Amino acid sequence: MSGAYRQSRVDIPEVSVQERCSHMGEILHAYDRGEAIMEAQRCLQCSMPYCVQACPITQDCKGYIDMVAQGRFDDAARVTLLGNPLATVLCKSCYHYCEEDCVKGGKGVAIAIRHLKRASLQFGDSDLQYVPMPSRGERVAVVGGGPAGIMATWELCLRGYSVTLYEAQPFLGGQVETIPKYHLDGDELEIDMARFKRFDLKIVTGKRCGVDFTPEQLLADGNLAVFLAIGASASGPLKIPGEELPGVFHALPFLLNANHNPEGFLGRRDRKAIIIGGGDVAMDAARSCIRFFPGQPVTVCYRRSEEEMPASEEEREGMYIEGVKFMPWRAPVRILGKDHVEGLVVARTELGPPDARGKRSVIVLPNTEETIPCDTIIAAVGQVADLRGFPQELDLKTPRGWPEGKASDWATGVEGVFASGNKSIVFAMSAGSRAAEAIDAYLAKKLGRAVIPRPHPFGEPVPVPPPSGYGDPAWSL
Ligand SMILES: Cc1cc2nc3c(=O)[nH]c(=O)nc-3n(C[C@H](O)[C@H](O)[C@H](O)COP(=O)(O)OP(=O)(O)OC[C@H]3O[C@@H](n4cnc5c(N)ncnc54)[C@H](O)[C@@H]3O)c2cc1C
Ligand code: SF4
Ligand code: SF4
Repeated sequence: MSGAYRQSRVDIPEVSVQERCSHMGEILHAYDRGEAIMEAQRCLQCSMPYCVQACPITQDCKGYIDMVAQGRFDDAARVTLLGNPLATVLCKSCYHYCEEDCVKGGKGVAIAIRHLKRASLQFGDSDLQYVPMPSRGERVAVVGGGPAGIMATWELCLRGYSVTLYEAQPFLGGQVETIPKYHLDGDELEIDMARFKRFDLKIVTGKRCGVDFTPEQLLADGNLAVFLAIGASASGPLKIPGEELPGVFHALPFLLNANHNPEGFLGRRDRKAIIIGGGDVAMDAARSCIRFFPGQPVTVCYRRSEEEMPASEEEREGMYIEGVKFMPWRAPVRILGKDHVEGLVVARTELGPPDARGKRSVIVLPNTEETIPCDTIIAAVGQVADLRGFPQELDLKTPRGWPEGKASDWATGVEGVFASGNKSIVFAMSAGSRAAEAIDAYLAKKLGRAVIPRPHPFGEPVPVPPPSGYGDPAWSL
């Protein structure tokens, strides 16, 4: 049977459940060359590639799949890297929106588009360097070294801008650094950033906007524009008594510290953990606890039903098969303990009438409280932007957590300052890409010259168009 007619996917090699729970190593392994070619040959090479359109950065996945199908891995790597400077990160962590729209998913299983990206980089020559236009000495500051800031940096540097990238943490990556090592083993960002060596780029880590400098100071220091890409990297509060007790963690610092300094940070390995929340971050925290605290109970409490959980199916399945206990319809009421967490009191819930946005509210039922013994609680109840020290004049909006400029091009209330982010790595990259375009358009007008089309990332004389997929922020609501 010709590859294109096969409906089933070539199995992605996976570590057994028993083995994976005993360490933090990666769960999924790469295809070998033969498996990758076989899977790529299932692709129909559609004339209307919905996969490409569904990708927020319009990654030419159809193109690299075609190359892999022919065994041309060097070409596949080049196509992959052409529009995707964080491809090594994304080939293991992207939520693969492309696969949801792949036509092969209609009657069978979608092409393993993300995993074929990994094959293209693994077997092709991916040790390439991006080639910028000659520098004009026009300086732009980017604040925030997560995917949005890095993508904007890439777009601006390619166009010949001189960029300074400011990051509050001692390392780049933003929330990518919190992704557990069983998904991303940790070197991927460094591999991607190594392709930025020819850029006129200065990276300043350990400096926080709002504390060490303000956006206005960056403009006064000679930057022609500033892009704020600070994400929603602060954890939302639980707002219940006992939240301040030792043993209560917020998911982001917990996962960040667990990745960077597990021995020093986690201490005891006999913790009994409860995770509060129902999103992907809660699942990451729970599945990490299974690995960090072997043989100990790990429980997830969520206020609504399983069907309403925002976590992906993949994460939910992982939670179940790895032995996490799931308690839906439970709201946290208070945390017990004198000098340290000793338990969590939860109450049963049910759905109430719809709120202003049409989402049904949660009602806590009286006389239904129960206590779950534990010594560790991880709150994963949403993320907010940390805007301490940011000037009011920026007039930022934060409807989805991360700050954005109010204008359609994300311009803020301060001329020359732009701000945006988004809900996942590739969506944040799309936001960064569009912000860079907006900054270029703003500077073209200000400096009295034409906008600079995105040049070919490897220095060829043809421009490569920027993303035009469904990456519009309104679509991602
Ligand atoms: C645990 C976890 C797992 C996730 N897993 C996935 C996944 O598997 N796939 C996926 O696609 N997405 C995942 N996400 C979501 C994804 O990581 C984010 O959507 C994405 O990183 C957002 O990018 P960003 O650049 O807008 O913001 P961020 O990644 O938050 O980056 C913002 C950066 O700005 C810095 N910063 C903040 N304030 C300041 C300041 N005042 N001055 C200077 N710097 C500042 C921060 O330190 C940070 O580095 C996950 C998120 C979490 C928390
Ligand atoms: S970046 Fe993500 S959405 Fe885009 S093609 Fe790759 S896996 Fe699909
Ligand atoms: S939609 Fe699916 S089958 Fe069609 S080109 Fe994309 S990956 Fe191939």
